[in-house]
Amino acid sequence: MNRFDIAGGQPKAWSILARSHAAGRVASTYLCHGPEGVGAWSLAIEFAALLNCEAPRLRSDNSEIRVPCDECRPCGSILSLNFEGLHLIVPIKSHKNRGEAIDLTNEVLDQKRRESFCLLDRSKPVGIPIDLARETKKRLALQPPVGITRVVLFYQMERMRAASADALLKLIEEPPPDTVIILTAVRPESLLPTILSRAQKVRLERLPEQMVIDYLIDRHQVPESAARLATKVCDRSLGRAIEMIAGKDADEADHRSVGLMLFKTLMSEPAPDLIAQMNDLINFNDRGAAEELVRLWQSLIRDGAYLANTTDETDLVNIDFSFEIREIAPRLANPSVVERMVTTTKNTLADLTLNVHIQPALVAMALKLKMDMEAGSQAPAP
Ligand SMILES: [Zn+2]
Repeated sequence: MNRFDIAGGQPKAWSILARSHAAGRVASTYLCHGPEGVGAWSLAIEFAALLNCEAPRLRSDNSEIRVPCDECRPCGSILSLNFEGLHLIVPIKSHKNRGEAIDLTNEVLDQKRRESFCLLDRSKPVGIPIDLARETKKRLALQPPVGITRVVLFYQMERMRAASADALLKLIEEPPPDTVIILTAVRPESLLPTILSRAQKVRLERLPEQMVIDYLIDRHQVPESAARLATKVCDRSLGRAIEMIAGKDADEADHRSVGLMLFKTLMSEPAPDLIAQMNDLINFNDRGAAEELVRLWQSLIRDGAYLANTTDETDLVNIDFSFEIREIAPRLANPSVVERMVTTTKNTLADLTLNVHIQPALVAMALKLKMDMEAGSQAPAP
């Protein structure tokens, strides 16, 4: 089974981790943060393998960067998530008792074994199980077996409830011997400042386009054209691209991802490119889909304006897009611009119910919104 080459996909992040290992200066806590679906999980697991590998190898002939050998016993058991020194705490949906929490955790681990880039179910409220976090803390108080570097991964930390964050905080303040704690987060701003200040930050970037395309073709047997489209629409997030091509909600994920990408294009591309992309990606024969797109943009405008004034993300409509909305938010800091944009979208929705031609209506709306946003970003910051 060919897995994704995370050292090649996240070269900066991997080099920070691999160099700290080579120099014998491994931090006790790392925070890996970046957009959703770009490999935080893989990065953490591969680093756990490197820390315990019996014979790390150089990534290529002219490289000083080390990667795990993949062949020794620790490498094998870590990569299959069965290593005694690997403690994985993942967010799970609400559960009645400890047994159910373990079952749900195992379900997530099975998903990750099949596809380490898969996104977790976001449709249900989730939290990191406090009793399992406490148990991990207890087990870590024991001496580790000789020669093992234990790795504790708290995956998607921002989903952790305050009580379990407390247990974690004690762990970070007094790190057990021979133990590395890895936290991952899409939105590090939402973590406690005391956690942030004690962790070494490792930033993940969007993945190289061709690597995402190749992986979709090789691992998921997607035709090349579909792989290219998914990679583009999902802005080089492999997790999102996999969800888009595979999930049972593929159509919906597809519409939302396309809508988000086009909304970002409003800000980043000149008008002719924006129009070309809209013509490529929108089915102008589908009035329902057109209305859905306008509603999505309304909610993105609303979320962006909201985040321009707060760091609290609990009230976002599009919580799954919070990383992107944070990038958009500064452009939506001016209330009078936001008001004009909302009016524009409302007028377009009204027009669409009056059977106007869909393509010109959507393009006109997009160009208006683009002008509004550009005017707004020239205004002084509030
Ligand atoms: Zn090895």
